[in-house]
Amino acid sequence: MINIVIFGAPGAGKGTQAKLLAEKYDFLHISTGDLLRQEVAAGTPLGQRAQAIMNRGDLVGDDIVVALLARALANRSTLPNPDASIDPWDRERKGEPHRPEGCIIDGFPRTVQQAQTLEFLFGKLQRKIDCVVAIDVPRDELVHRIHERAAISGRADDTEEVIRHRIELYDLQTQPVLDYYRVSGLLVTVDGSGEIAETNTRICQTLERLMKL
Ligand code: ADP
Repeated sequence: MINIVIFGAPGAGKGTQAKLLAEKYDFLHISTGDLLRQEVAAGTPLGQRAQAIMNRGDLVGDDIVVALLARALANRSTLPNPDASIDPWDRERKGEPHRPEGCIIDGFPRTVQQAQTLEFLFGKLQRKIDCVVAIDVPRDELVHRIHERAAISGRADDTEEVIRHRIELYDLQTQPVLDYYRVSGLLVTVDGSGEIAETNTRICQTLERLMKL
């Protein structure tokens, strides 16, 4: 089982890249942002608690996010990635050779505390993180992209003020996670300043080299 964390500032394209990788390698894509948005859309008690926090651009409490993540990690029935054209278990059923199972986590960890929690959760499942891919995008480009996305995304947290706050929180709370993984030797940084396809090729080359995918 291969476990990859995809990491990047708001606007770095981690969600887009995580989705592409999940499709290419038939990996499970777990996005904490998507899990939260699903709870909000379904109007669950948890979603109701998360909604206002997300709309402000603040980090949702670990009690909520960790519960959602743990559920997604434990639940194989959340597979496959609903957007994937191929059902990974279909190949298994047909006895065809297939790539190792894997998952891509996007949006978590966002704090050093969450990084420690992820290790704990994985430890319980006898899994470990194999690689943390950080998508590196210059600040000017990030701001430009988020503004473009804001015009079409319809996300309540894509307003000018909230975007600024999300980037501030990223700098304060999430950036230190990079050092955490650098020290543990798991971090690889990929230039994400170009087109989506270019970044995707870079990430795939990196993963194939490191993990023989
Ligand atoms: P982005 O990376 O563009 O900020 P996400 O979809 O990853 O978008 O996250 C959207 C929002 O969901 C965040 O601003 C935050 O409120 C909440 N969220 C997502 N992941 C986490 C997390 N790991 N911890 C706390 N809050 C989270």
